[in-house]
Amino acid sequence: MSAQTAAPPTQTAPSRRTRWLRGAREFILHAILQDRVLQRAYPGVMHLLIFWGMVIQLIGTVIVILQYPLFLPIELPWPRQAAYLGFELVMDLGGLMIIVGILMATLRRIVRKPSFLINRWDDWYALALLFVIALLGYSTEGVRLMSVSPEWRAWSPIGNLFAKGFTAVGLDLSGESSLHDFLFWAHTAVGLLFIASLPFTKLRHMISGSINIVFRPQLASGALEPIKDIETAEKLGAGEIDEFHSNALLMFDACVQCGRCEDVCPSTFSGMPYSPRSLLQALYTSMKENLISSSNTKESISFGDMVGKENPWLCTTCGDCISTCPLFIDPVLAVIELRRYMTLTTGDVPGPVGETLTHMERRGNPWGLPKENHAPYLKELGVRVLQPGEFTDTLLYLGCAFGYDNRSQGAGRALISLLKRAEVDFAVLGPAEGCCGETARRLGHEYVFQVMAEENIATFESVKFNRIVTPCAHGYNTLKNEYPQFGGNYTVLHHTELLSELIAEGRLTVDREADDQVHTYHDACYIGRYNKIYDEPRDVLGSIPALKLTEMPRHREHAFCCGGGGGHMWMEIDPNTRINHRRLAEVTDDAKADVVVTGCPYCLIMLDDAIRSKGLVEEVAVKDIAEVLTTHMDE
Ligand code: SF4
Ligand code: SF4
Repeated sequence: MSAQTAAPPTQTAPSRRTRWLRGAREFILHAILQDRVLQRAYPGVMHLLIFWGMVIQLIGTVIVILQYPLFLPIELPWPRQAAYLGFELVMDLGGLMIIVGILMATLRRIVRKPSFLINRWDDWYALALLFVIALLGYSTEGVRLMSVSPEWRAWSPIGNLFAKGFTAVGLDLSGESSLHDFLFWAHTAVGLLFIASLPFTKLRHMISGSINIVFRPQLASGALEPIKDIETAEKLGAGEIDEFHSNALLMFDACVQCGRCEDVCPSTFSGMPYSPRSLLQALYTSMKENLISSSNTKESISFGDMVGKENPWLCTTCGDCISTCPLFIDPVLAVIELRRYMTLTTGDVPGPVGETLTHMERRGNPWGLPKENHAPYLKELGVRVLQPGEFTDTLLYLGCAFGYDNRSQGAGRALISLLKRAEVDFAVLGPAEGCCGETARRLGHEYVFQVMAEENIATFESVKFNRIVTPCAHGYNTLKNEYPQFGGNYTVLHHTELLSELIAEGRLTVDREADDQVHTYHDACYIGRYNKIYDEPRDVLGSIPALKLTEMPRHREHAFCCGGGGGHMWMEIDPNTRINHRRLAEVTDDAKADVVVTGCPYCLIMLDDAIRSKGLVEEVAVKDIAEVLTTHMDE
């Protein structure tokens, strides 16, 4: 029996037609129009000029070839007359786009030199090849215009410029015919070299990248792929390159090493010996050596040699690389597969990871605390505990942090006072509430996660409710996007969404104006980037009269991580590479804020830790959004 009285959303496999339509849409939007590439102005325009210049030249060349009955029994009767003039102009401009794009790329690589950009031989090879093709095309056209001198030559402005240039340098026209033939065949030969180079150079990303865009795994945003039939599965994670799924291998191949992921990665930025680009490069190299080596005696590459044992633990799963990569490559997918191998197959994991997983297995929560310690304030505040078979409109799922962590418990109290004030019909599960299992899943222990998910779903099924509300960003993502993989389909709201709704309905009003403290909102990765909850928390803060709200430079979709996700909250991080310290610097130095507000207990804990270890308790505070609201309300 379903737990809800309201109709739950259900996860059904999309029909073939839906999948094709989706694939076509993705191809047009991301491969043809390149919306992701354009997220960054300079390289975006540069790449678009080269790409569209090539597309124009390619289509134009096919049209020219079809003028002759070489492949088809008919001659293409288009373009003629005025259309031909337009055709000449467009082809001419297509070549110009390529040249301008290549000059921009060269300038970027030699002069601008962004730190994340590396120069490999095939970067220069691809640029040089395209430049030579464009140059030979214009030269061929210039010689043709010199010899024929048609009235319409102005419609081919760059070709005409080349013709004038040849004339100016006194090119001997007596041999123009053989020169034209030479240039034509040279142009054709370099064009064929371009096609022949596709499989062996970065140029193949045009194909592998497009395939990845269209056929990449279509999971809910923020969800990891489950290990199916985990009790009997033969393969748990990937310890060798050929244990990765073909989708992952395609991703490794499609990566052009552009470095955009590295540029946004909080681990790289904080100085950890890790970058998603390097990880993908290492996996690609292993793939090349192991899977496509012609050697008959090839040996599988050991896990340590493939990526280094520490590497997969340095990712916070913040997802910024995923939302930045123009080819929709997902480094987290590789990270989790590698972690699963270490956690489930070898057991060779860093000490704190092992301890956290042991806590989850033995105590049922990453804190390793007894159940009695979970949210003692619920009893004190008289919160109703839902019994099997009973109904409530809103099931409040607190999660472990709001239950066990001292700092977060204060935020839990604030939230409950707001729900009471707004007269929300809500209840909790009390001792029946289990950990959502997110930490285990992100640390690679899929088995513990699946057990916890199934237990929680059974508990949810034993009571009746319309919706679940949780103040935990990680729990929200797990319940909303990952539990449907196990049949748990619920309407899940984050508390920022509920508070925004209550304020909009007039059920929650603020009593006092804000003082002159400057606030800034920190978007938690698991409600922001993965679930697009950006406006609701800002609406809540905006409802407080006179509240001074400022943004950090990195906010909303490209907000910088707090450093607590992906199990990092439980790991020992070198004090010199702490991500939370970098984020705090953005709060104090960039936003010049007195209060940083968040909607995630991990962010609360990580930023609180940074404030304390930096000795800034007097200067800056971190608060959950519920605490900010209650601060501006009378008792
Ligand atoms: S994963 Fe994407 S963003 Fe990162 S280097 Fe490869 S292509 Fe660029
Ligand atoms: S998910 Fe975040 S921490 Fe992990 S590789 Fe991507 S950007 Fe870096």
